Amino acid sequence: MCFCANLPVGVRHNGSTPVPRLLDTLHRPLRSLRVSVTDRCNLRCAYCMPELDYTWLPRHDLLTFEELGRLVDVFTGLGVDRVRLTGGEPLLRKDLPAFVAQLAARPAITDLAITTNGVLLADLAQPLRDAGLHRVTVSLDSLRRDRFERLARFDELDRVRAGIDRAREVFGHLKLDTVVMRGTNDDELVDLLEYGRGVGAEVRFIEYMDVGGATQWRPAAVVSRREMLDGLERHYGPITPLAEDSAAPAERFCLPDGLVFGLISSTTAPFCARCDRARLTADGLWLLCLYATRGLDLRGPLRAGASDDALRDLIAQQWEARADRGAEVRLESVDRKAWIAADTLRANRHLEMHTRGG
Ligand code: SAM
Ligand code: SF4
Ligand code: SF4
Repeated sequence: MCFCANLPVGVRHNGSTPVPRLLDTLHRPLRSLRVSVTDRCNLRCAYCMPELDYTWLPRHDLLTFEELGRLVDVFTGLGVDRVRLTGGEPLLRKDLPAFVAQLAARPAITDLAITTNGVLLADLAQPLRDAGLHRVTVSLDSLRRDRFERLARFDELDRVRAGIDRAREVFGHLKLDTVVMRGTNDDELVDLLEYGRGVGAEVRFIEYMDVGGATQWRPAAVVSRREMLDGLERHYGPITPLAEDSAAPAERFCLPDGLVFGLISSTTAPFCARCDRARLTADGLWLLCLYATRGLDLRGPLRAGASDDALRDLIAQQWEARADRGAEVRLESVDRKAWIAADTLRANRHLEMHTRGG
C-alpha cells in the first residue's frame, strides 16, 4: 500500500518541496530523527553504562555514511526536517565531518545537531562547523573533577571543558545537558547554571530515566522537575516559565536575572503526547520510542536492494500504526524499578540507551 493513500489533509514545506504530513495514531507527526552513528563510547556514565563489560554491534552491521544518508533522505521525504547525530559517542565515528557535510547539503534538513560527551570536541568543533553542523549539545554532569570521574569512570573533565570552550568559539552558542541524580550531582544545579552563563550555554537539567542501560535506576535517585525548580527558586527567587508551543522535550524557564534554562521531565511528567521523534541505530534498526522493545530493521531491505519507495512505504506504515507512549506507560507502573535487567541487556544490545542514542 502506498502511504499517500492515508495521508491527512495538510502539508509542510521541507526545503523547497511540499511534504505531506504523516501522522501516527495519536496524531503525532514524524519530524525529528536521531541517528546513532556508533554504539561505542569513551565514557561509562553511571546512568547509561554502569556495567563492567559491554559487547558491541558487529562492525559489518554498521551502516556506511552512504547507507545512513540514503535512509535519512527517505525520512526527509516523509516529513523529517530535524536530524540529531548521537551514539554511543558520535565523535568516535571516523570521518564524522564528512557525514555532516553530506547531510548539511540537504535543504530538507533545517536543523542539524549533535549530542556529544565533549571529550573529543576541542579538535572536532571547527571541522564540524566547517562541514555545516548547526548546533551542538554537550552532556556535562559535574564540574568537580573527582565527581566527574566517579560518574563517568574516566578523568576527562578537563578535555570536556576544553571542548565546550572551543564549541563556544566556533558555534557562538551551545547547550549543556545534565542528568540529575540524587546524592550524586543534585547539589550542583546552581554551579552548572553559572558555568553555563559563563560559557554562553543554555543548561538543561534532565530527570534520571529508567531507560534500557540504567540498571542502577531506582525511584529514590530521581530528582523531580518540581524539586529542581523549588531548589533553584530558593537560590534565585521566582522562576518564570517561558510560554512556548513546541514539540521539544525541554520546558524552558527564566531566572529573575533573565538567564534561561531548560528542564526535561521525562520521568515525572513525560511529553509523549507531542513526541515527534524516532531513532535509527548505527546498524539500521528504526525505533519508534525510547522504550520500544522492538524496532523495524531497515538494514536488511536496504542491503537487499529495496527501492526508496519501498523503504518509504515500510516506514510510513509503521509510523501510521505507532501508538508508543513509553515514558507515560512507565509512569503508570506500580513498584517501579530498573526497566530492564543487565542479563537481558547483554542478550539484546538494541535495548541499551547507548545503542539507541538517547
Ligand atoms: N554520548 C553522547 C552524550 O552523552 O551526550 C550521546 C549519547 S547519550 C546516550 C545521549 C543522552 O542520553 C545524553 O545527554 C545522556 O545524558 C542521556 N542519557 C543517557 N542515559 C540516561 C538516563 N538514564 N536518564 C536520562 N538521560 C540519559
Ligand atoms: Fe555517557 Fe553518552 Fe557514553 Fe552513555 S553514551 S555512557 S551518556 S557519554
Ligand atoms: Fe517519545 Fe517514547 Fe520518549 Fe514518550 S517515551 S517521549 S513516546 S520516545
